Amino acid sequence: MKVLVYSARPYDERFLREANQGQHELHFVETRLERQTVILAKDFPVICGFVEDDLSAPVLRQLVKGKTRLITLRSTGFNNVDLEAADRLGLTVMRVAAYSPYSIAEFAVGIILSLNRKIHRAYQRVRDNNFLLDGLLGFDLHGKTVGVVGTGKIGAVFSQIMHGFGCHLLGYDLRQKPELIALGMRYTSLNELLSQSDIISLHIPLTPETYHLINHETIAFLKEGAMLINTSRGALIDARVLIPSLKRGRLSAVGLDVYEEESHLYFRDLSDKILQDDVIARLITFPNVLITGHQAFFTREAETEIAATVVQNISDFASGRTNANTLKAEKVLVSSRYK
Ligand code: NAD
Repeated sequence: MKVLVYSARPYDERFLREANQGQHELHFVETRLERQTVILAKDFPVICGFVEDDLSAPVLRQLVKGKTRLITLRSTGFNNVDLEAADRLGLTVMRVAAYSPYSIAEFAVGIILSLNRKIHRAYQRVRDNNFLLDGLLGFDLHGKTVGVVGTGKIGAVFSQIMHGFGCHLLGYDLRQKPELIALGMRYTSLNELLSQSDIISLHIPLTPETYHLINHETIAFLKEGAMLINTSRGALIDARVLIPSLKRGRLSAVGLDVYEEESHLYFRDLSDKILQDDVIARLITFPNVLITGHQAFFTREAETEIAATVVQNISDFASGRTNANTLKAEKVLVSSRYK
């Protein structure tokens, strides 16, 4: 099938071409999908999008006018797609339901280690021939309490790694996992988890129920000096509430691989621009905040699996087969932006 891949970086092209092996006609554009760029998809029956692409109702309507029939995402999360509108318009939407959960879980652990032992600051210091240890004091992870919000595929791997460090595990999820309970995890309410955890890591999807899960009310439950990590979706946190908590020291550190307004920033070089987003600009100034540009998934293994699944999705669609990656609006209550 003829496929237009939006938001395509050189690594996307490399992995998708390797997985495709000439089966489908792949075209790549670096631009993100939005109202102004949807015209490029005219006469492409398939488009392939990523987390920053705008798949709201007006864009979907234009896609249908241009004869698109399948949207296949290169991501697990699909909060950027208006599934109800897609259903109404007869568009099939597929995602990559699962790929290396290790990539994201390991990255979350990496952020924790960097923030705790100040590795990001030490790296800068030593480059300036400053070998002082002042300000670099960390703590042993052993014996600390880690709150895992969302114990699905990624949260489970994350829990196993933190168990390996000798941490106590608290979990919050709609469903409890016996294998994590066997590991020593205790499932609690969200507020209890927030009030008892030294480190909190978010691994739930963004839905209307989880939108701004961390807000000015829930942040008040946090244990004094807690560390908060988000490698899931930006809008799980109202980022504005982080700033006063960081200033007061209620939060000792924050690690964010995702940010609610990331679609205006991430996956591009803005080094010669003035940041217009005052919230992220302020967050970047804190020495105890580590922000990365949605890279937790970015391993060779994950990219290989994502590309293989995208190609399989297209082949299944072409031959009239459905698979578990097909998204239906009735299964998930989703609006395009949760605002
Ligand atoms: P998953 O479906 O395996 O797990 C999600 C868990 O959240 C499930 O156990 C589910 O029961 C729970 N959950 C859902 N809604 C809930 C609610 N309202 N309250 C409590 N629990 C709830 O998903 P996963 O593969 O572990 O991925 C988790 C999220 O990670 C994805 O939705 C995606 O947003 C994010 N992600 C981020 C990156 C990245 O690069 N930063 C990459 C992949 C996925």
